[in-house]
Parts: sequence; structure tokens; C-alpha cells
Amino acid sequence: MTEIHRPDRGPSQEFWAEPGIQVVPLRTPTLPPATHTNCVVIGTDQVVIIDPASPYEEEQERLLTHLKSRGAQVLAIWLTHHHADHTGGVQTLRTALDVPVLAHPATAERLQADIEVDDALFDGDRTSLGDLEIEALHTPGHARGHLAFREVTSRTLVAGDLVAGQGTIIIDPPEGDMADYLATLGRLIQENVGAIIPAHGPLIEDGETKLLNYIGHREARERQIAEALQKKANKQARPLDLVPEIYPEVPPVFHPLAARQVLAHLLKLEQEGRVDRPDGGSGVPGTPVYMATGQENRTPDVSFRWIGASTGPNTNWF
Ligand SMILES: [Zn+2]
Repeated sequence: MTEIHRPDRGPSQEFWAEPGIQVVPLRTPTLPPATHTNCVVIGTDQVVIIDPASPYEEEQERLLTHLKSRGAQVLAIWLTHHHADHTGGVQTLRTALDVPVLAHPATAERLQADIEVDDALFDGDRTSLGDLEIEALHTPGHARGHLAFREVTSRTLVAGDLVAGQGTIIIDPPEGDMADYLATLGRLIQENVGAIIPAHGPLIEDGETKLLNYIGHREARERQIAEALQKKANKQARPLDLVPEIYPEVPPVFHPLAARQVLAHLLKLEQEGRVDRPDGGSGVPGTPVYMATGQENRTPDVSFRWIGASTGPNTNWF
């Protein structure tokens, strides 16, 4: 319990974020630059495992060996959300330990073909684990059923894919929703956040500053997109057309992914009445990256048009 996070540790090295909150990074097939997903073990004598993420046998074995060496009683598996780089080891671990899997109902719905979720977790649900009291928070934005888990006393937050210790967070519609995401980040600041354990990368000691930076970054992106759109002929463009200007540093192979991010911003601006679509279409066009299997048109030939600032930026979260 004495080893605290050290920046020089290797990517697989376990560390304690707080007494009773241990992080076990597992190698997963996640998006670069990340190579691992943080599995979190909360509690002392009785523990809950959050996101046993790895589909790789040797990593699953490592987690099991680790849990056995701790000698704690595992009560349950909790999931932050349904993405494969968070749920890859769920079936193996639940079978090995005979424990229930809990998640938000929207996550259970998306997993139903692969993983049975035994019980639902909702916003505000609290669980006592020895000296720790853990509160589930419904935190949509990256995924509709996304949950974060907050230790009530230290305010340490197991944040899943709300923020990243390395790389960025993908907001890929319709599962990802930019307005929800910003509202979630704002809520976490309002409710006072301590250190943040992201799903990928090292502990973030100053959670509040990180969240404020994320909100600032998204606001800047939104302004950039609005300005870029207004400079185009007829003030209209497809998401992919805006990518080279908005993301000049991103290599072309990632442009379809970047276009989904631009789309997320455009859909938020559309909800606010600041852009519309000349073709009169609605809904979310194209195929989300996580659902894409090959050469689908992820960002089809749909244009968005600037029609002015009818509501202004949404700053309700302050
Ligand atoms: Zn994710």
C-alpha cells in the first residue's frame, strides 16, 4: 500500500492512486498512442474490479495472479462502458471468480450479444468497500452508458474514457455526443473532483485543471470549426473537407476519425441552431469508427452550412 505512482514506471506497472485504489494497467488493442487500459481494483479485504480490459490470455492470467496474491475477496466486476478495450477480459474473469458484472443499462444493451450484465448501476448508486465509499456517476459523452466512479472522501475519480492520460478522447456520434460530453465535464468540476484515474495513461493529480483544459480545448475547436465553415463557399462544407485545416498535424490515415470529431461538433452546433444541412437531412450520417469493419463511408457526402449564432456557445455548466 505504500507504493505511490512514479512517473518512471513501465506501462504495465501497477500503482496505488490512493490507499485502497490500485491501478493495474493491462495491455489491450486500444487506439494509439495508448497501449494499455487501466484496470482498477477498489477496496482492501473486499474489492471490486473496474474494466478487466484485456482480451490477451497472458494479461488475463497476470490480473488473476495479481488478485490471488492480494488475497482479497472479489465482489463484482463493474464496467465504465461497452468498448472492447474495456471489456476484453470480462468473460474470463467472471468465470474464474464467479462474480456478477454490473454496468449502466445502456452499456448492458450494447453488450448483450457478447456479455451478459447481471445488474444495473445508476447515477448516485453507492457501495461501501471497507473504509471507502464509492459513488457511480452517469457520465455520457464518450458513450451513452458511460459511468465514472468517485471515492466520496478523497474525490478520486475513476474516469474511464472521459479524459486521457495520453492521447485524446474520441467523441464519435451517435454513441458520442459533444453536448453531453461538455455537460459531463462541467458537472464533475462543479461537484469538486480530486485526482483522476484515466482509462489510459498515468494518474492525473490535479483533476480540476485537466477538466478545465479539456473544456477550453473543445471550445477552441468549436470556434475553429465555426470560423472555417464561414470561410467556405456558401458557408458550407462536409466534415472531411474541414479536417486538413482543423487538424493539420493529423496524418491522412486518421482523417476519417478526425472527421467524426468534426461531425460531433457540427451536430452540437446544429442542435443549437447555428448550422443546418442544405439537403434537409437529419440524424447522424456515416458509420461510427468503432462499428466500421472496412471501407464504409464513415463521413459521407453530407454538408453542413453556417447560419449564424442563434444561441451562442453553451456555457450552462458554469
Ligand atoms: Zn471507449
